[in-house]
Amino acid sequence: MPNREVLILGAGVAGPALAYWLARFNFHPVVVEKARGLRSSGNPVDVKGPAVQVAEKMRIMPQLQAAATGVTGTTLLDLAGRPMARLPMTSEKRRDVEISRADLATIVYEAAHDGAEFLFGDTVVDLTQDPAGVDVTFEQAAPRRFDLVIGSDGIHSTVRRLAFGPEQQYARDLGMYLATVPLPAEAIEFPHDMVVHNSPGRLLLVHPGRDQPMAMFVFRGTTDGYDRRDRVTQKRILADAYDGAGWRAPELVEAFREHPDPYFDRLNAIRIDGWSRGRVGLLGDSASSVAVFGDGSTLAVAGAHTLAEALHAHPEDHARAFRQYEATHRRLVNPKQRQIGPMASVLVPRTARGLTARNAAARALVGVTGKAFAPTIARTIEANP
Ligand SMILES: Cc1cc2nc3c(=O)[nH]c(=O)nc-3n(C[C@H](O)[C@H](O)[C@H](O)COP(=O)(O)OP(=O)(O)OC[C@H]3O[C@@H](n4cnc5c(N)ncnc54)[C@H](O)[C@@H]3O)c2cc1C
Repeated sequence: MPNREVLILGAGVAGPALAYWLARFNFHPVVVEKARGLRSSGNPVDVKGPAVQVAEKMRIMPQLQAAATGVTGTTLLDLAGRPMARLPMTSEKRRDVEISRADLATIVYEAAHDGAEFLFGDTVVDLTQDPAGVDVTFEQAAPRRFDLVIGSDGIHSTVRRLAFGPEQQYARDLGMYLATVPLPAEAIEFPHDMVVHNSPGRLLLVHPGRDQPMAMFVFRGTTDGYDRRDRVTQKRILADAYDGAGWRAPELVEAFREHPDPYFDRLNAIRIDGWSRGRVGLLGDSASSVAVFGDGSTLAVAGAHTLAEALHAHPEDHARAFRQYEATHRRLVNPKQRQIGPMASVLVPRTARGLTARNAAARALVGVTGKAFAPTIARTIEANP
């Protein structure tokens, strides 16, 4: 079979999902992940609509449902920290699941691992392609030749850097930071709700998780002094941003400062014209990250299925397969990318006026499902910048 040997870089959500489907279609997927093993904790993500359909075909819905966070809504607090509106997450009729990213990655990995080769603790340092294949140099393993290489190695993708060019060409800075830190169980006030507190330009969120609560910080700020690898500066940037933010900010900032390895990143959206270069393709966040504003894990699962189907349909013509994948999957990705700006306004209103407008709209919309809620509030904020 032509194009049978496929290297997939990254065992997050998209990589193992692609490996599962490629193995079902008689390809030989090899997944290489830089971490030494699967991680045990993680931020909550969603498996929605098209990803639910894929998960059903993979027969993993029971496992996903069993691992779901159990969160049913969002409680919005006013500036003083008093509950002012509760927004149900989703209509009861839908089968969407909220789950930690680590649990989702583990469940997809378990479904995929019999059909694929998985190598942990390694990465790619060089890719050289010719018309017939791609020569890959690994950091640890011996060099190897593949028919195709897929980068599902996340927002700071190495495959993208090696085959498409530097990250700056494709990352759109959203003018915000994202940080998370695990919390002790006693930090939870509402076991079934995300609790959200805003002050202008800042969001603080406490998520109960399933058995691992966490705090999330999303805040607006410039890149001055920011270094992706400098923890000390990151902790200072976060502490300065939440100075005087009210509610539980001092306690949550302290939890972040004390943690040895909290998550902190600049928020970027990834936009690329063309998700393939020759025999190298991109999938998931590496191709089209929507940051935290638009169902990235759903896009990762759905995109993996679409890409595998396209390669299966055109096993001798990878260029045609990549075109089919992109034409189909962009129909899901493009609306989500257009939603980033409005979602950012809803979640982190920039000004006191915008926040007042958001909160007024939230109170008026109590009882409306999350889906209808976000665009309506976004329009209200846009009218009150
Ligand atoms: C704090 C936070 C909150 C989020 N909230 C939501 C949400 O509510 N809803 C939602 O749908 N999405 C959310 N997301 C986004 C979601 O997590 C991603 O869109 C999704 O995980 C993308 O899957 P992926 O497989 O493309 O990338 P990832 O899940 O990032 O996986 C990439 C994998 O590649 C590995 N890797 C990276 N570099 C290399 C390398 N050089 N070599 C080998 N392996 C490598 C990484 O270790 C990782 O395992 C959130 C993200 C964050 C950070």
